[in-house]
Amino acid sequence: MEQPISVTRSNFNDWMVPVFAPANFIPVRGEGSRIWDQENKEYIDFAGGIAVNALGHAHPVAVNALTEQATKLWHVGNGYTNEPVLRLAKQLTENTFADKVFFCNSGAEANEAALKLARKVGLDSGVAGKSGIVAFKNAFHGRTLFTVSAGGQPKYSQDFAPLPNGINHVAFNDLDAAKAVINEQTCAVIVEPIQGEGGVIPADIEFLKGLRALCDQFGALLIFDEVQTGVGRTGSLYAYMNTGVIPDVLTTAKALGGGFPVGAMLTTDKFAPHFSVGTHGTTYGGNPLASAVAGAVFEFINTPEVLEGVKHRHQYFLNALNTLNAEHQIFEEIRGQGLLIGCVLKAEYAGKAKDITTWAGEEGLLALIAGPDVVRFTPSLIIPEKDIDEGIARLKRALAKLAK
Ligand SMILES: *Cc1c(COP(=O)(O)O)cnc(C)c1O
Repeated sequence: MEQPISVTRSNFNDWMVPVFAPANFIPVRGEGSRIWDQENKEYIDFAGGIAVNALGHAHPVAVNALTEQATKLWHVGNGYTNEPVLRLAKQLTENTFADKVFFCNSGAEANEAALKLARKVGLDSGVAGKSGIVAFKNAFHGRTLFTVSAGGQPKYSQDFAPLPNGINHVAFNDLDAAKAVINEQTCAVIVEPIQGEGGVIPADIEFLKGLRALCDQFGALLIFDEVQTGVGRTGSLYAYMNTGVIPDVLTTAKALGGGFPVGAMLTTDKFAPHFSVGTHGTTYGGNPLASAVAGAVFEFINTPEVLEGVKHRHQYFLNALNTLNAEHQIFEEIRGQGLLIGCVLKAEYAGKAKDITTWAGEEGLLALIAGPDVVRFTPSLIIPEKDIDEGIARLKRALAKLAK
């Protein structure tokens, strides 16, 4: 066999559209919560591919599902259904509020489907102008034009005007502000149960309950974007299950495929029929390969052992972080649920989150930011305690550089 083409990090700058600024090393191999780069340097993975690699790297359950399906059938197109997608739909509907599922390939596409469904339901209602969408400042819903517009971070949307209109942004966790803009013309309210990219900020339960009541009052769809919080991340299968609030639409992606691209929009029998044959679609969505992997990942995670394990690891992580912080006094607050953890920097270290993750990389730790002032951890849901210990030790060395 020919040798593969030799590549280096600097080739990224040569050949890639510069929308990312990746670390200066290239990961080549992973196992569990450890990865290795081209130089065979080892890293502990507290990033989990941005809340995606829920079973870590190369987990046998995912590898077996992928390789078994790979020898059978990869793709047939949506002119035919397939066995893995039907099994996955059964799993998702049996284990959530939903009755129906639309499959796609990413979180943005799942939200795009949700927002389009809401617009269609609004149109079908016969109420003139029922197309308004209420969304929240600081929210993140993806990078398509509709989803960056729904997102509440203007830096991601302002360069692409004209934007889809009819979207109103109000302050997150401010029910009075939401009340002031939700009315008969509102077709949907879209919200993250925990704002992930925006800084790991949990929604107040009373806020979510209030949104539910307003949506009921005005006939608007309540959409929960659980792209980051879903599939066990918070220690519940979905975060809505912790809130007592049931949405009309839920979007899920990231951890759903454990690293294989897949997304889904879940809804009920009440709203699903507003989409009919041809109203919406996708080439790859629900393909057998993605569905087989997602089915295996979902089945593995949706057990009391794994979900309880996430809650246990949350406490373990927090204890370690609090101990570290008692010594170094770097974080103002440590927040989040399950294995979605945000460490908010004290004012004197504002803007330093990116530097900390760069130093963490030098020390052999993968970590994330959530805005300029929050260091975020979204590791594998089954990360071993000894890897947490080792990762925290490396974080401690990275934070020592901050003190200098
Ligand atoms: C990551 C994310 C998205 C976008 O998902 P993609 O797969 O990158 O399109 C949407 N919403 C939330 C809450 C996310 O965290």
